[in-house]
Amino acid sequence: MHNDHALVEARLDRFVRDHLTPALYRDARPLAATAWQVEREPVPFDTAVQQSFEPVPLGWRWGRAWSTVWLHVTGEVPAEWLPHPPEGTRIEVLVDFGYNRSRSGFQAEGLAYRPDGTLIKAISPLNSWLPVEPGDAAIELLIEAAANPDVAGEYTFDPTPYGQWETAPDEPLYSLKQLEVALRDDTVWELLQDIWTLRGLMAELPEGSSRRHEILRALEDMLDVLDPEGIPSTAPAGRAALAGVLAKPAHASAHRVLATGHAHIDSAWLWPLRETVRKCARTFTNAMALMDEYPDFVFSCSSAQQYRWMKDHHPQVFDRIREKVAAGQFSPVGGMWVESDTNMPGGEAMARQFIAGKRFFLDEFGVECREAWLPDSFGYSAALPQIVAAAGSQWFLTQKISWNQYNKMPHHTFWWEGIDGTRVFTHFPPVDTYISELNGRELAHAERNFSEKGRASISLVPFGWGDGGGGPTREMIAAARRTEDLEGSPTVVIGTAEQFFTEAQAEYPEAPVWRGEMYLELHRGVFTSQLRTKQGNRRNEALLRQAELWAATAALRTGLPYPAAELEQAWHTVLLLQFHDILPGSSIAWVHREAEQRHAAVTDALEAIIEASLAALAGSPADGGVDLLVNAGPFTRAGVPALGAGQYDAARLAASHPGVTATEAPDGATILDNGIIRAVVDARGHVTSLVAHADGREAIVPGAPANVLRLHRDLPNLWDAWDLDQHYQRTVTELLDVDERRVRATAEEATVITVRRVGASGGQQSTIEQRLILRAGATALEIENRVDWREREKILKLAVPLDVHAEQIAAETQFGHLYRATHTNTSWDAARFEACQHRFVHLGEPGYGVAIANDSTYGYDVGRDTRADGGTTTTVRFSLLRAPLFPDPESDQGEHLLRFRIAPGATIGDAVALGYDLATPLRAVRAAAPIAPIVTSSDPAVVVETVKLAEDGSGDLVVRLYEARGGRARTVLTLDGTAAAIVSTDLLERELADEPSAAGASIELPFRPFQLRTVRFREASAR
Ligand SMILES: [Zn+2]
Repeated sequence: MHNDHALVEARLDRFVRDHLTPALYRDARPLAATAWQVEREPVPFDTAVQQSFEPVPLGWRWGRAWSTVWLHVTGEVPAEWLPHPPEGTRIEVLVDFGYNRSRSGFQAEGLAYRPDGTLIKAISPLNSWLPVEPGDAAIELLIEAAANPDVAGEYTFDPTPYGQWETAPDEPLYSLKQLEVALRDDTVWELLQDIWTLRGLMAELPEGSSRRHEILRALEDMLDVLDPEGIPSTAPAGRAALAGVLAKPAHASAHRVLATGHAHIDSAWLWPLRETVRKCARTFTNAMALMDEYPDFVFSCSSAQQYRWMKDHHPQVFDRIREKVAAGQFSPVGGMWVESDTNMPGGEAMARQFIAGKRFFLDEFGVECREAWLPDSFGYSAALPQIVAAAGSQWFLTQKISWNQYNKMPHHTFWWEGIDGTRVFTHFPPVDTYISELNGRELAHAERNFSEKGRASISLVPFGWGDGGGGPTREMIAAARRTEDLEGSPTVVIGTAEQFFTEAQAEYPEAPVWRGEMYLELHRGVFTSQLRTKQGNRRNEALLRQAELWAATAALRTGLPYPAAELEQAWHTVLLLQFHDILPGSSIAWVHREAEQRHAAVTDALEAIIEASLAALAGSPADGGVDLLVNAGPFTRAGVPALGAGQYDAARLAASHPGVTATEAPDGATILDNGIIRAVVDARGHVTSLVAHADGREAIVPGAPANVLRLHRDLPNLWDAWDLDQHYQRTVTELLDVDERRVRATAEEATVITVRRVGASGGQQSTIEQRLILRAGATALEIENRVDWREREKILKLAVPLDVHAEQIAAETQFGHLYRATHTNTSWDAARFEACQHRFVHLGEPGYGVAIANDSTYGYDVGRDTRADGGTTTTVRFSLLRAPLFPDPESDQGEHLLRFRIAPGATIGDAVALGYDLATPLRAVRAAAPIAPIVTSSDPAVVVETVKLAEDGSGDLVVRLYEARGGRARTVLTLDGTAAAIVSTDLLERELADEPSAAGASIELPFRPFQLRTVRFREASAR
């Protein structure tokens, strides 16, 4: 036979496009519409229906960006379709808002209601039909249509005015293209699904496979029997022509896919938070409409916050979710408050993502999620396995690491081991997407790509439109049906994530192990973009610690009511703003301005809680009282105990710390000395010497001063706010010249101030004022950076070269730190050219180290050089500011304050303390008497991270601690009072068997390196 298969395929595609698809609807009649334009922000149904609607014609131009229109749609069902539509058809309403391209979730979307306010279904591209009940003679419905602009367009990353209401153009974006009642031919629809699946499968089969040609010839036969002028009458014959190839069973060794319905809904991204509330309502309504029609359909849905939005704003949707969860079709997954970033959230916040999420699902549905579900977050912290396990979960899912630029992760199903040694069973869906359509290409890719073949046979495929929501469609379910048992295809079964993990783990208990962080070799700019959003996060994480500590202490000591609701609200806001496009800084301007405002409101609320709690603890000083310093940190400072408040003993401190001197040297340098450390700051403001008197060793490299500002071009190839591409390193301007320099010195603190004016992009100059501060009693030199940032598409780095032979750098993460290489020996090390830290890094060699703490900087890079004298210079460079133009063209413009502290001669334990010190400054309060700590930990290696009252409102005291130095430890945790029982719990404060327990006031606790523990004091009372 002559080989004509390309010609047959071309014939098929043309016929489907020109004859079959147009025959899907046998007949259609226009409907009428009136419209009401919402002034600005969305309103509920009840408000909308009371407005006066004006008639609008087909072709009506509507929809200024971010606006909302309510359409009142009316019409009659043709008499000949009554009381029943013709055999093999169904009646549907078809709506087209004038979409500009074909993907769901990035353009106009609508939600349809019946006149009584009950929900029908959503409208979006590729899913723009509504059902009509058989027998209904009249059509009346209301559609809330959202004119969401397509902000990203073709992903050219041009600056966009659409990221804010205020800057978006006024003209309408859409037009009402289609509004009619139509008669769908069921057989034609089924035939289209048959063809779609077979066409996709065929294209993936080898050219030489018999099966491929068998499908091709069946499709050819089908084309022959279809009459282009009589599609409805010949479609059954067309289906019959394909029945044989569709009936052939899968190979016995076919890859097995467990497909779970899903809709990735970014809690904010190229749309504001308020739009996500509506996206959830639309997507969930669609998913539940499918559940009604397909009883085996399952929808996996993460993010307790999104359910909570339904509970608050769409109770009708939430009530239905409740029913569908009970029926097993709506499946909560992930057990987190949102799908957060996992690199930057602090330890307690990362724990609270799981605590708040799992609590919500347990309270509302009685469901405990056992998996962490983070398909899209930008890399995964090495601390996560322990946190996931401590929350009572056992599985982990992502696929994002498939986006790596350089290295392919070797495993798809494996054990992931964290910093403390905890392992969780992990799966990367080899389909490499969380937005599958279950097409032939995706299914074939899942099988080909699956690294565990031969040892394991199953993978997960999340299907349904996502990012902007949308979710599964009836066409996807049809594809799943057709691939259940189909020769040449993986077998597809719809199920839950829990079913998948249970089966995958049973099949593959001896899966390989990946140790340490799962670094994403992409999106490295997200540690720096949108500094204000990040600072709000860091600030509020520290304030939450203080508010909970003092509120719990005050509740036990004074009976002051514990502000549980206010604290929960503050946590929920902070957790929401850790979403994987908010904290990383990759959202539109609207989202980030709102995040800044919400963080500010949380700060105010927490400060009020702290103030009220400390006021209660301070009592009413009858005789004027005493001045106290309040120490919310976990280490004694200035003679004040951790978690307590004590008197500032000026005399004692003065005896041990002689005060600060600032001496001018002949070369213009200033020598700062406080008796503990000595720093030399040269005429240009650079640090040329830094020595701790205790060891006398110089930390600074001869000829290579520390504190050098470096300005780089920052023009990513793609994904501007996300990506920092390696080529940024190839162009740099060191900001050496100083425009102003002055010295300010008192006995308490000496400061060298320099001012630099730099750059001229856009005609504006940036100003960088640095204050190098040495305080009496301080073990570190502080570098305060006050930046008025006017650059665009630049990155500002602060370089600190050190005379330390460091193989690796320790960077703080949640509840501990991890080590990363300072070299680029392997492609994995080389790809990690920008990484994440929390409050400190530590660079050390045996016997010596330097700690550098920061107040709000996450991104850094590290490198090493060998000098002419044979010594090693290890340089860490902190990423202070960027200014990408997409998606927020004004990102990071304006004034910023960033602080660092450099401690020479510091151990890793010093680094931990330095980080807490900068994050949690001492506060002054006037009180009747010192405030004793409510709890104490005897071993300084064991850090008390959190002190709070129990989530269940019992009044029990809960303390979270971790081993912070990476070694073994044993501590005695003592309550300043008594408890009926002291028990070890998981993160959800549920008692753990086989873990230490005690009664009375104290409990002795052993710790593995970096081990996290939660201790609950039942019926605690304070002294
Ligand atoms: Zn996402």
